[in-house]
Amino acid sequence: ATPMSIMVATGRGAQAGVLIRDAEALERFAKVDVLIVDKTGTLTEGKPTLTDIIASEGMDETELLSLVASLERGSEHPLAEAIVAGAEDRGASLSEAMDFEAVTGKGVSGTVQGRRVALGNRAMMSDLGIDPGGLAVTAEKLQGEGRTAMFVAVDGKAAGLVAVADRVKETTPAAIRALHEAGLRIVMATGDSRRTAEAVARDLGIDEVRADVSPEDKGALVEELRAQGLKVAMAGDGVNDAPALAAADVGIAMGTGADVAVESAGITLVKGDLTGIVRARTLAQATMANIR
Ligand code: ADP
Ligand code: MG
Repeated sequence: ATPMSIMVATGRGAQAGVLIRDAEALERFAKVDVLIVDKTGTLTEGKPTLTDIIASEGMDETELLSLVASLERGSEHPLAEAIVAGAEDRGASLSEAMDFEAVTGKGVSGTVQGRRVALGNRAMMSDLGIDPGGLAVTAEKLQGEGRTAMFVAVDGKAAGLVAVADRVKETTPAAIRALHEAGLRIVMATGDSRRTAEAVARDLGIDEVRADVSPEDKGALVEELRAQGLKVAMAGDGVNDAPALAAADVGIAMGTGADVAVESAGITLVKGDLTGIVRARTLAQATMANIR
């Protein structure tokens, strides 16, 4: 494409809130076959709300909520914000956490009121050598409803579950339909559990789901598809998506997400709205068609 046609396309994109880094990003995006999308914050609002608190025997719900919310004050994850807000709404009293540690894509741990508290997914519990026992069945039921269930451990033992629900963005279903019509295959990649991911994917008609993936796994998925000769775009919003955004032929960041995601991307959707991807695709293909 001529420098002029590229300038026109990037200018039109910018007006629509689609920032295209350079000619290369535009040219590559015209040829993309597969779009990998992150779930939380990309397909969904990323503003989950606390829906369930389930305490194991010997633990009460208010105490459980106080412990986990005190811990989550140290985290910037959308799940953490939901838990803190939900605890405040329910009048739980929060205290200082010590030795706070966040494990990307897994969860958080620390000491609250002299007790060791950990909160996160199955992988987080496995890493700590904790068996969730009967809580696993309850978690599966919640996940089947599209909720994200997190296991809580206190002093090395399974102590309960908290769950949050995150609404699909209003613009997502139409954007997915349009991307399908544009001939793209759509793969969801998420650190969330298989059941939760499938419940969301089913409603949206997503072609393939990769669940329980770590940030490195997201990068490896990009490499796997590229090795099949496919041109791959990856859309994500989080720190956990940065490796995959950088590995993709075209990385697409939500402007509403983490700075590191934006820095790793060739295309940025200012409003964090997936409809922008459809726009970018149309612009890219129109620009490339002009030179043939
Ligand atoms: P996604 O890929 O959907 O954006 P992440 O990779 O950020 O999700 O997180 C994967 C999973 O790890 C979450 O579904 C949750 O179970 C757990 N997790 C991550 N961070 C936290 C946190 N701060 N508190 C509780 N659980 C967390
Ligand atoms: Mg995310």
